[in-house]
Amino acid sequence: MHELSIAESVDRIAERHADGRPVAKVELKVGHLRQVVPSALAFAFELVAQGTCVEGAELAMEEIPAAGRCRRCGAESELHGFPLQCPVCEGLDLELLRGEELLVDALELDDAIMNGGTRYGR
Ligand SMILES: [Zn+2]
Repeated sequence: MHELSIAESVDRIAERHADGRPVAKVELKVGHLRQVVPSALAFAFELVAQGTCVEGAELAMEEIPAAGRCRRCGAESELHGFPLQCPVCEGLDLELLRGEELLVDALELDDAIMNGGTRYGR
C-alpha cells in the first residue's frame, strides 16, 4: 500500500510548515498517474498524523489530470492512464507534462486553538 508512504511524507511536510501549530486542513494536489486511492490515503493519513499537530486535520485532495506531448507528431493531449499513448497518431513516445505531481498545496492552521479560544473536540 503505497498510500502509507505518501501519507508519511505529506504529514512530514505539513508538520514542518505548521511548526507545532495545529493544522485544520491540508490541501493536496495529486497527479492522476500516481494512482492514489483517495480513501486509502485519507485512512493512512489519519494513522500517521496521530499524536502530531496534524492530527484530525482534514485532507483535501485535488486530482491533476495527466498530460503529455507526443515526440512523433507534437500533439499535446490529456492522458487517461497506462500505457501512455498519443490519441492523435497512436505513438507511444510521449514526454510527460503533468500527472506525476504530489504536492502539499496549502495548509490551513487552526488559529482558534492558537489563541487559546475555542477548542475543537474530536
Ligand atoms: Zn502523436
